[in-house]
Amino acid sequence: MRYKDKHQLAAEWQTLLERTPRPLRQAVEALVEQHSSDFAGHFYTVMLEDPHASLFLSNEQVQKRLNPSMQRWLTAMFAVEHADFEALVEQQEKVGQVHARLDIPVNLVLNGSRQLKQAIYKQINATFKNPLSPGDASVYVSDHIDMAMEIMSHAYSVANDRNARTEEAYKLFSLTQSIGNEREKQRSALLNWENTLMFAIAAQQGTDGLPKLATSEFGLWYFHKACHAFEGAPEIATISRHIQQVDNEWLKALSNDDATQRLSALSDIRDAVRTIVMLLDDVLERASGLDAGRDSLTRLLNRKFLSVVLSREIEMARHSEKCFALLMVDIDHFKSINDTHGHDAGDNVLQQVASILDRSTRGGDCVFRMGGEEFLIVLVNTDQDGSRLFAERLRQAVAKEPMLASADTLLNITVSIGVTLHDGHPDYQRSLQRADQALYEAKRSGRNRVVVQ
Ligand code: GH3
Ligand code: MG
Ligand code: MG
Repeated sequence: MRYKDKHQLAAEWQTLLERTPRPLRQAVEALVEQHSSDFAGHFYTVMLEDPHASLFLSNEQVQKRLNPSMQRWLTAMFAVEHADFEALVEQQEKVGQVHARLDIPVNLVLNGSRQLKQAIYKQINATFKNPLSPGDASVYVSDHIDMAMEIMSHAYSVANDRNARTEEAYKLFSLTQSIGNEREKQRSALLNWENTLMFAIAAQQGTDGLPKLATSEFGLWYFHKACHAFEGAPEIATISRHIQQVDNEWLKALSNDDATQRLSALSDIRDAVRTIVMLLDDVLERASGLDAGRDSLTRLLNRKFLSVVLSREIEMARHSEKCFALLMVDIDHFKSINDTHGHDAGDNVLQQVASILDRSTRGGDCVFRMGGEEFLIVLVNTDQDGSRLFAERLRQAVAKEPMLASADTLLNITVSIGVTLHDGHPDYQRSLQRADQALYEAKRSGRNRVVVQ
């Protein structure tokens, strides 16, 4: 079922508020305005005591920013006299999305909301006197914060589902990376099983010891891995049926006294093996052509996997001394290559630059095409000096390699690189922005250079 839209939520929120008399709302607004810094401070102190929450909050940058932004949020929430409710809904949605990006568990968010409410109730009880009812004011505060939480949670779960789906796609993508090898290995495992069977029959060892296909090397790979990886592919059900038929019918028929029936079972098995090889080839072929995660021109990673990779690296950096760096790489004056030599020449240059980036990085690093002629390298297990050195070498490697723009045109091109080190902040958007700023600075100060920020 579809969740309420912005408009409906805004209307619902407004109705909810109007149940509380205006003077009371105004009194709460004044109280929140006056004490927002205390409330934010209380929230922060209590939450830091929770070891789980402190994972997200103890970073210095978070400390600096969270308090003022929490105060802003509180003030905006309770400044309801002339509020734009749709804007208020949007604000909660944004907060929910940020929580999802940082992977903050919902229980922590709810705990935070409870701490805030308690701090506000306490202040209300201490200051509200007749005719301002502390009870009514607290109910109002509670309803109001709950409404924000409802919207936040919805935005959170939508974003979270999306993250989970991308994560799944990334896993499948990683799996398909080695699909060429896998295909050869499993095809020979299947033929090996068939050979073993034929040998056993030829040697007349009796049919009891005949190897089952389902528990052969091939069968184990098939049921434990392939079935899950390619779930939903039409061939999968057919292959499974063939394997079962081989094991449950035809292998048994090999012990039949009637020679014609034995022969017919043998030929059924041979046909089944051929069919399985063929169907499997189709599935694997499709999967290797899937390429969901690769940019089709440069074969680099598509930026849609950026969030999966960066979230994973941030999580790993939490538990390690080492850090990762982001390098934003942009080709200088690329437009003029297109303009002078044509779009195809531009494409050729893009491919060669991509290949240099790919060759220069190590197994744990990731190279993304961010769009156009801009790339992002996630350089793992590094530090400030290491990443600067790497970027500088990369810049030189590009500058000294002549690019084959067309059969008879060699071009010298350069790149500008913005480098930044992950600073421990749980939100990767901030590091991306810093890398962007560094790149901008490299462009501004003359191009063909590395700027670390
Ligand atoms: P700067 O040094 O400031 O980066 O200048 P620039 O010319 O490299 O940057 P600008 O952003 O002005 O131009 C980028 C150009 O890249 C514009 C666009 O047409 C071209 N471009 C984007 N994607 C592709 C592509 O896939 N193939 C080709 N051939 N060109 C592309
Ligand atoms: Mg450029
Ligand atoms: Mg650009």
